[in-house]
Amino acid sequence: MLPQNEFLCARCARQGKTCCQGREIYITPGDAQRIFRHTGLTGFYEYKPPSDPAYADQSDDPVWAQHVFHSDGSRRILMRMPSGDCMFLSGTGCVLPLDTRPLICRLYPFTYTASGIDNELEKGCPQNLLADNQCLTDVLCMSLDQAYGWHHLLYEEIMSDGDDNRTDF
Ligand code: SF4
Ligand code: SF4
Repeated sequence: MLPQNEFLCARCARQGKTCCQGREIYITPGDAQRIFRHTGLTGFYEYKPPSDPAYADQSDDPVWAQHVFHSDGSRRILMRMPSGDCMFLSGTGCVLPLDTRPLICRLYPFTYTASGIDNELEKGCPQNLLADNQCLTDVLCMSLDQAYGWHHLLYEEIMSDGDDNRTDF
C-alpha cells in the first residue's frame, strides 16, 4: 500500500514511467537560453524528428506544426540518458527550478493548442492514485492562472522558432 500523504509524482515514480521518462521534450529557444543561463551547460539538446511519426501530425495546431518543426522535420529536444530518462531527472525529481524548466514540462498535464488551454488533462498522470475527493491539478499545485501565463510565453517563443532561429550551443 502506497503512503497516501506522499506527493503524487513520487508515488507515480514508484509505479514506473513518469512524464520525465521515455519522452522527447521539445524546448523553445527561450527554454534553451534559460537552461543555459542556469546550468552553464552546452550540448543539452539536439535536433531530431519525432521517434513516433504520429507526433508529427499536429493538424489541430498549425502554429506548432509550422514553427516547432524545422524544414528537415526535426525539432529541438532535450538529451536523454541511455535509460530514456530526461537528462535533468534525478532521484528526487527534476533538477531544474520551476522558472527554468521547459515550458511544456511546466504545463503538463494541461492540454492546449495555440488557441488556448483545453478542458481535458493529459492521461499520463495516474489519477487512479488520487483519493475520491482529490483534483489532479490541486494535488500537483498547478493553477490555471499560472498555466495561462506559461501558455502565452510558450506560444510567443514557439512563434520565434524555426529554421531562422536554430540555436546552437
Ligand atoms: S506530473 Fe503526472 S505523470 Fe508526471 S510525475 Fe507527476 S503524477 Fe507522474
Ligand atoms: S526537464 Fe525536468 S520536468 Fe522536464 S522532462 Fe526533464 S526532468 Fe522532467
